[in-house]
Amino acid sequence: MYDSEGRRNDADVPVTGCGPILSVSATPLRPLRQQIFETVRAAGRTARADVTRSLGISPGSATTLSAELIAAGFLREVEGLPREAGRGRPPVALEVVPDARLVVGIKLSDRAHTAVLTDFAGNVLANASQPTQPHRKTLEQTVTEVAELVATLLSGAQCDLSRISAVGAGLSGLVNHESGMVLWSPLLSQRDLALGPALSRRFGLPVFLDNDANNLTLAELWFGAGRARSDFAVVTIEEGVGMGLVLGNRLFRGSRGIGLELGHTKVQLDGALCRCGKRGCLEAYVADYALAREAATALDRNHNNPQSPKVMLETLFEQAKAGNESARTIFRRAGRYLSLGLANVVQLFDPELIILSGERMQYDYLYADEVIAEMRALTLEDGRVPCPVEIHAWGDLVWARGASALALGAVTDQALGDGWVA
Ligand SMILES: [Zn+2]
Repeated sequence: MYDSEGRRNDADVPVTGCGPILSVSATPLRPLRQQIFETVRAAGRTARADVTRSLGISPGSATTLSAELIAAGFLREVEGLPREAGRGRPPVALEVVPDARLVVGIKLSDRAHTAVLTDFAGNVLANASQPTQPHRKTLEQTVTEVAELVATLLSGAQCDLSRISAVGAGLSGLVNHESGMVLWSPLLSQRDLALGPALSRRFGLPVFLDNDANNLTLAELWFGAGRARSDFAVVTIEEGVGMGLVLGNRLFRGSRGIGLELGHTKVQLDGALCRCGKRGCLEAYVADYALAREAATALDRNHNNPQSPKVMLETLFEQAKAGNESARTIFRRAGRYLSLGLANVVQLFDPELIILSGERMQYDYLYADEVIAEMRALTLEDGRVPCPVEIHAWGDLVWARGASALALGAVTDQALGDGWVA
């Protein structure tokens, strides 16, 4: 449809007929068996009749397919539902067999890598953390560090690598989920590194890699405030400004599989220089390094003896709390730019909810009521309830939990979808 320079070439479009040529849904429907399993997993524990009702299927199919799932060791029957008045036997419920599959979720960072061991029901069985040096690593160094982290995790949990079905991992930067290529990351010394395949070879396991913000969004979809929402956005501020978007209950990664870059949307023509090399990006006004840049001046620090952005930012925050007006104006200005970014998200996607999520939600100036009020002031009033904004300050395992959801989803597709062996 498009030539190598991106120009539209209509020669491929048939001249007869009308309407979309591609099938209605680009994503194949999951087999009913998998839908039953996922309904039970989402409920935790549920009666077969409730599964039948929520999927709109016949009791006969539900009975046959759940019997198959039980025989294959993915579901089990438990007594756990309250006895109905006047009835004899307590009703039997279905639940996932937790150790039917185990996965590992990993978050790479410039301070400490973290990992969680998660069972098929989504329970975190163990976690581990490993401090790392803040300089950029080669592919080999990264693979070695991840292998050490996983070894620590599994030995702590007394679990053998042979019991693991897949590994999910995430890091900041441009990550192609499909190929496992890291096109660019602040953690890696080179561009275009095949980190996913390299980790897969090291472990002899399927490894699923994604951008941090996407994994954080999966954490909200699987374990957090996004569970009951079909369309929501997650915005996170760490070293940069990340965003993930769920549309129709699925993570939206864009046509190139890399994801959304809210941090590099432009909020100012010819504005502040961003670390991506371009000017006027949202990140250049809101991210840690942007605030730290201004903090050096506000705190009158010696530029020849620079502190880490993290230390600088913590000092700036303490100063703002203590009433230092110039420190406060830095946070307030960053908050106004964040309002602008959030208002653009609302106008573009009309999400049910925006979740401000991540590990570093302590800089509450960025999430103050004024920021939300300004976001609403910058959004068209259409008479409806404005898009709610929720703030989630998770612990630092949230990213690794999101990575484990990435692996769980893939393992579920493999075991109960295409790869089903009765
Ligand atoms: Zn940028």
